[in-house]
Amino acid sequence: MARVAVIGAGFVGLSCAWWLMRDGHRVTLFDAQGPGEGASYGNAGTFANYACIPVNNPDVFRNLPRFLFSSTSPLRIRWRDTPMLAPWLARFLLAATSRRYELSARALAHMLSRAFEGYREMLSANGLGAFVRERECLYLYSSTASFEAAQPSLALRRSLGVQFDTLERDGIGQLEPRLAPLFERGTLFGGSWFLSDPRGFLRMLHASLLERGMEYRQVEIESVATEARAVRLMDTAGAAHDVERAIVCAGSRSGRFARQCGDAVPLGTERGYHVRFPGTSDLISRPCGWAERGFYMTPMEGGIRAAGTVELARHEAGKNADLLRLLTKSAQAALPGLPEPDSDWLGFRPSLPDGLPVVGPSSRTPNVIYAFGHQHLGVTLGGVTGSVVADLVAGRESPLDLTPYSPRRF
Ligand SMILES: Cc1cc2nc3c(=O)[nH]c(=O)nc-3n(C[C@H](O)[C@H](O)[C@H](O)COP(=O)(O)OP(=O)(O)OC[C@H]3O[C@@H](n4cnc5c(N)ncnc54)[C@H](O)[C@@H]3O)c2cc1C
Repeated sequence: MARVAVIGAGFVGLSCAWWLMRDGHRVTLFDAQGPGEGASYGNAGTFANYACIPVNNPDVFRNLPRFLFSSTSPLRIRWRDTPMLAPWLARFLLAATSRRYELSARALAHMLSRAFEGYREMLSANGLGAFVRERECLYLYSSTASFEAAQPSLALRRSLGVQFDTLERDGIGQLEPRLAPLFERGTLFGGSWFLSDPRGFLRMLHASLLERGMEYRQVEIESVATEARAVRLMDTAGAAHDVERAIVCAGSRSGRFARQCGDAVPLGTERGYHVRFPGTSDLISRPCGWAERGFYMTPMEGGIRAAGTVELARHEAGKNADLLRLLTKSAQAALPGLPEPDSDWLGFRPSLPDGLPVVGPSSRTPNVIYAFGHQHLGVTLGGVTGSVVADLVAGRESPLDLTPYSPRRF
């Protein structure tokens, strides 16, 4: 069995650690901040096994004027950052053509089809099942025109095996009576569920791995260097950590490690926000998404979390008060009775321009394996990614065709 370093303690890194420990490897987990503090903290918590449609689908072109000029657009670009964003943005738009987006949708659906397998054993073995709420996600359309416009992507989902029911006004009201009567249509996705507290889930998973012998170092890794039979990680305090294998799961910060290992992977970020409405979780029973506004309201422990939106901006840019206001006002319009939020959050989705993650060995050596870029789906795809990484380390054939997720596809 190997000594394996895992960099990053989000959904992806902790799932990799779980699967590697299951195979009997000696795992050391490294994180600069602590378990579940990155994008894995503030997300909408949905197990979105239906979400095989990348954000950059052909509708992006149709919706561009709204995205650019409407005050209710959930997608924003920070104009002064466009020179820095331009290369990623160009690839993002190029990937939105019908042919390329369908390829991405197929590859996402392929991975999503095994998403639950990635968690099944983990959930039953660690008491983690207590965080799972088996309520299907409801996606809502406030205009019939946008529901009609979504038909091609809904048809594509169906053809890729996604199951859903369509609801009209009455059905939506029966399911979630506290919602304002704003919504013309809804889709209810079969087999989806949500987590009542994503960070609580990861902290419990982390604690159970420590009990089983995983080592943990709260340090920032500076570099990953490959040697003949080993991998050397250097942390920012100057200490070296030598292992046989290293798994790069540093979310939106993974790009530089890939470059150090010979792969120029165009990893960008889609920034997203949440606001929390304290003590309101009994208003709805399930995640309710509002299509036109690009966010979910999820009844979590401590209150409803309204999470979503996409902002393209440099990593260091401050929070966008306008998007936080849009999230707050939209949630309050959808659910009359929501108070003012007591907290907000900005997180960084790790996103490749084609909407697919990078899962596979580095060009330089099979001893470094990448597992990052899960964009809007890291909660959902963490488990299956961990199982794929364990297969790669063990030299087992993966049940998934990994070609679409290769770091060399760019
Ligand atoms: C608003 C919003 C809503 C979302 N909703 C959902 C949802 O409902 N369902 C879903 O499936 N997905 C959702 N997502 C996406 C999901 O949150 C991410 O895809 C996922 O959290 C990424 O997990 P990760 O483990 O790759 O990265 P992260 O959670 O970001 O973890 C990376 C870790 O690496 C560590 N790290 C980084 N650099 C270093 C370094 N140099 N040294 C040591 N450690 C380092 C960080 O501290 C961090 O803990 C949402 C995202 C956002 C922003």
